[in-house]
Amino acid sequence: MDFGIERQLLVRGAAEIFDRYSPRISEGLYFPSDSFVDVDEVRQGLVATLRNRGVTFVATDAVTLLDDKVVRVETHQGCFEAPFAVLATGANGALARQLNVESAAVRPVRGVTVRLQRRQHGQTGMIRALVDGRPIYVVERSDGSVVVGASSDESNDRYVDALAVSELLRLALLIYPSLDGAEFVEARSGLRPVAQAGLPFFQEISPNCVWTSGYYRHGVLMAPLAYRHVERRLG
Ligand SMILES: Cc1cc2nc3c(=O)[nH]c(=O)nc-3n(C[C@H](O)[C@H](O)[C@H](O)COP(=O)(O)OP(=O)(O)OC[C@H]3O[C@@H](n4cnc5c(N)ncnc54)[C@H](O)[C@@H]3O)c2cc1C
Repeated sequence: MDFGIERQLLVRGAAEIFDRYSPRISEGLYFPSDSFVDVDEVRQGLVATLRNRGVTFVATDAVTLLDDKVVRVETHQGCFEAPFAVLATGANGALARQLNVESAAVRPVRGVTVRLQRRQHGQTGMIRALVDGRPIYVVERSDGSVVVGASSDESNDRYVDALAVSELLRLALLIYPSLDGAEFVEARSGLRPVAQAGLPFFQEISPNCVWTSGYYRHGVLMAPLAYRHVERRLG
């Protein structure tokens, strides 16, 4: 299938990019317009921008009730009221179920990523590969930080398991042997929200409350689209 994205078939010997990777890799597709972001930087930037525009953030362990008539939100830090609410609780459909949304079915797919730090700086790029039939990606940033991702399993338990970390490192070193001297920084896990139809959705819960979820593997990429939808909805 052609999505109109420019791509080139590269073969070892004709392209120096292969020098970084294992000699077992002899050819690959190169996407010149491919790009990536640092999710931590994006989140920090968004929070700072919104704070500058007067948005108040309330950190809370849990929103315990969302009353759809008056959009009254109960949290561990008190009650808040608003003219409109967007319910964005990711893989947790409990609040939507509490409001009797019949199709409140999102399921969590846990993913683990590993972060490394290289001593050499300056090299950037991203490789996606299938190793032993398993998908893996390695993202390198100019400050020497490296992200290896991502495992995938049906689980509601947000913990980092030893097997996922060891598999990610094993596969990463197979395609990228020079990472063996990189410092292990951390491993993270998250729950990707998957909807029944496999697609993101916006569901009206009431005239002043919308529930959105189902972004699965693409929630960061699709965040601007989600924002535009909410903006349109608010008129
Ligand atoms: C390992 C991994 C790698 C990924 N890589 C990419 C990628 O490369 N590109 C990309 O676009 N996407 C990626 N994703 C997917 C992306 O992270 C998700 O699609 C996105 O986070 C979904 O956004 P969300 O706001 O719907 O849910 P979340 O980000 O899960 O946010 C929901 C928030 O609601 C909170 N919450 C839930 N219930 C309550 C409650 N009752 N009270 C208060 N708070 C509550 C949760 O704690 C959470 O903080 C990745 C995900 C994982 C796990």
